Amino acid sequence: MVIFKEAAQLGDFLRHKVENNLNIGFIPTMGALHSGHISLVKNAHAQGMFTVCSIFLNPTQFNDKKDYEQYPVSTDADIEMLLQAGCDVLFLPSVEEMYPGGTDKMKTYDFGYLDTILEGANRPGHFKGVGQIVSRLLDIVKPHTLYLGQKDYQQCMVIKKLIEILGLPSLNLVISPTLREQDGLAMSSRNRRLTEPQRALAALLYQCLVSIQTKQAGGNFAIVQKECTDLLIAKGFTPEYVALADANNLQLLSNYDNSVPMITLIAAKIGEIRLIDNILLQ
Ligand code: AMP
Repeated sequence: MVIFKEAAQLGDFLRHKVENNLNIGFIPTMGALHSGHISLVKNAHAQGMFTVCSIFLNPTQFNDKKDYEQYPVSTDADIEMLLQAGCDVLFLPSVEEMYPGGTDKMKTYDFGYLDTILEGANRPGHFKGVGQIVSRLLDIVKPHTLYLGQKDYQQCMVIKKLIEILGLPSLNLVISPTLREQDGLAMSSRNRRLTEPQRALAALLYQCLVSIQTKQAGGNFAIVQKECTDLLIAKGFTPEYVALADANNLQLLSNYDNSVPMITLIAAKIGEIRLIDNILLQ
């Protein structure tokens, strides 16, 4: 695995690979890697891609400064995991390398409705930062295929829109399923910050999603939504949303609607740690 810290050098190296008929598969991450991230890398590798992973803790997508400062960092262990997974290139840039003119100078993108709901509404400025960094990374790496996780479903939709705005119709997007711990908790870098008692409770988010799916037959989302919210509060969480939406466009649904593909999404804080999860309804 070759490690690059500078954009220009990485760009030159990858251009040479493309000239030699290799397809670039790209997995952007913020590090503190776990098996969920690694599943994306393995997927790219298995699909015959020349696999490029980036680790960059992007300051502009953190609306909460404390969350940024306390985000786990484990670069040495990350490198070891990427080596084992068959990653070809790791891009490990500095903030100055990614925002050469400063974070304020960088172009921003308008995601319209998607930025007004759920994560957009609860994390002002978050998707603006995501748009800035993903557009910069795509410009440097110029991948054929971009690998993202369903865990960040709304982010996947924002990036899909960004690809449209940037006019990159040949860029292929692969969205992989969420990897979970044995008790159902979605793997997340932030899970490392949970205390033992918090960790024991954290699978409740997934249990709520499953109960929203199961109670579809009863046909009253408002009741299930309230049950979940009350249960989360009773167990010491601060829920931000328990939502049901059309999976095609994230239009929020006030009740189950079998005429569209549905997704249920949840965000809640446990102590200082903010967790999100979702499942597609069957
Ligand atoms: P992050 O480092 O949190 O920015 O995540 C980098 C990529 O890994 C994103 O596309 C995430 O959606 C994806 N990812 C994060 N957690 C998981 C998971 N548990 N399973 C699969 N993919 C994940």
